[in-house]
Amino acid sequence: MKLKKSKSTLSIACIFFFFLLAITFFSAPEKYDIIIKNTKIVDGTGKAALRGDIAIKGEKIVAVGRVEGEAATVIDGSGLVTCPGFIDPHSHADLTIVKYPLAENLIMQGITTFLGGNCGGSAAPQKDLTFGEWLSKVEDEGISINYAPLVGHYTIRILVMGHDYRRKATPAEIEQTIYFITPAMLAPMFTGGGGIGVVWMAGPLWNGCLRMSGTR
Ligand SMILES: [Zn+2]
Repeated sequence: MKLKKSKSTLSIACIFFFFLLAITFFSAPEKYDIIIKNTKIVDGTGKAALRGDIAIKGEKIVAVGRVEGEAATVIDGSGLVTCPGFIDPHSHADLTIVKYPLAENLIMQGITTFLGGNCGGSAAPQKDLTFGEWLSKVEDEGISINYAPLVGHYTIRILVMGHDYRRKATPAEIEQTIYFITPAMLAPMFTGGGGIGVVWMAGPLWNGCLRMSGTR
C-alpha cells in the first residue's frame, strides 16, 4: 500500500517535469524592443561595472544581465559603456529648446536631463507669456530631453523694472515681481525653484525676490 502511494507520487512528479520541459522548449522567445548586447554596464549606484546585456521594452529597462530573447533592434555594445543619462545642472538650453526640440547637442553627449534658467535668466516669463504658458508650450512641442526649469530672477527684474534695475525696487515693483514669480513657483515644475545669477548685474539686487521667503 505504501509502495503504491510512492509510485503515484513519482508519476505525478514525472508528468510535471515533462510539462515544464515542454514549456521551456516550446514557449516563444521573449520579445523586446531593444537589446544592447555585451556592453560594459555602469548602473550609477557606485558599484563596479559589469559586462552584460540590457533589454528595453517601451520606455523601460526590463532586464539587465545575460538576456535571451529577440528584439527589433539589437545593438552591439562591445567596447562601449552603457550608463544612466547625465544631468547637466548648469544649462541655458531653455532659451533654445523650442527651436531645437531634439536637443541633439545634449543627447549626443549623453545628457538626458538639463536644469534650465540658471544664472538668473530664463526663457519666461515674458511680457505676453507667463511661466505656466511657457511650460505648456514646451510640453506641446514634445522635446527629446528632460527639462527641470528654474525661473530666472533677473528675467523678472528686467521685465518689471526695464533696464533701470540698478536701484532698489519700489514697493509697487516688488508686488509686480511677486505677481510674476508666484505662478512660476506654483507651476507643476520638477524643481520649483528660482535661478539667481549673483555675479551678474541684476543678481545682487535681489530685494523683492527674497521677500518671497520673508527674509528681506
Ligand atoms: Zn550660466
